[in-house]
Amino acid sequence: MKILVTGGAGYIGSHMVRTLGEKGNHDIVVYDNLSTGHRDSLLCGRLTVGDLADAAALDELFRAEKFDAVMHFATNIVVDESVREPVKYYRNNFVNTLNLIAACTRHKVNRFIFSSTAAVYGIPEAVPVTEDAPLLPINPYGSSKMMVELALRDVSLSSDLRHVALRYFNVAGADSAFRIGQKYKDATHLITVSLRTALGLREQLKVFGTDYDTPDGTCIRDYIHVDDLVEAHVLALEYLSEGNKSRVFNCGYGHGYSVREVVDKVKQVTGVDFRVNETARRAGDPPSLIADSSRIRNELGWMPAYDDLEYIIRTAWQWEKKLHGAK
Ligand code: UDP
Repeated sequence: MKILVTGGAGYIGSHMVRTLGEKGNHDIVVYDNLSTGHRDSLLCGRLTVGDLADAAALDELFRAEKFDAVMHFATNIVVDESVREPVKYYRNNFVNTLNLIAACTRHKVNRFIFSSTAAVYGIPEAVPVTEDAPLLPINPYGSSKMMVELALRDVSLSSDLRHVALRYFNVAGADSAFRIGQKYKDATHLITVSLRTALGLREQLKVFGTDYDTPDGTCIRDYIHVDDLVEAHVLALEYLSEGNKSRVFNCGYGHGYSVREVVDKVKQVTGVDFRVNETARRAGDPPSLIADSSRIRNELGWMPAYDDLEYIIRTAWQWEKKLHGAK
């Protein structure tokens, strides 16, 4: 298959490109503006540097390459930034994705896999949350992703396009050979920030809020290894290729860890007792997000291989040490 991977030079996208390359029989084209992605994160595939805002460039790319499928990873992902800069999120995550969807319908590319997020649920009434729970995002990041899901639903009803929206929970960890991993300069995600604090690159880790209605007062998240998430995409592509209808799937393990539990595990894995500062809540954080992942397990046969917080943190730790030249 010829597959377009937007955001393929980014964290999750680069793991996807690696896996597609390892499967051997795909022609992979990456479209990335390198705003947060890196050329050297591409272990294979052909890179076109470009922006999804550039509808003409997209049209040209789709004309030149006859894609069989699109995997759309390119996105802005920082929740509290989305609260401060909502227009950036609506523009980059929603408006620009419409350019991509339009290119697909114009050029008859009918298989579309979308990186959605658990943030579309907002503060779910019940956890684990199922795909049928109401979509009530509480931050512009989640809203921008929900809007893409709605657009995809409507385009799927009015054209031949079929899509799978994968609602990611908290993705972490790195390639088992540590060739690629997260490279964000200003990382905001808990595991990465904790590891960089353990490396001495930051003075302290701030815990954002200890007064949530959770057992230890800190937020609970369902952390999933990036390679299990990539496998979900492989299965989603097979699902669409078999002619199945558009579908939404949660991607998480079905259990969660509090911020304090994650920090403790990071200290244990790294052997570093770094400084932790308990501070006020961060804008836009729901107390608890845990996936009910029975749908993807039952319908796609997804069988996660790395449901182990220690393994997730260990791979991320090896990667961070390599990235920062530490022993
Ligand atoms: N968090 C924290 N300190 C940090 C980064 C994150 O306490 O330096 C908390 C954050 O408030 C949330 C959880 O860790 O409760 C997961 O946040 P992250 O940014 O990793 O992912 P999100 O769930 O926002 O996508």
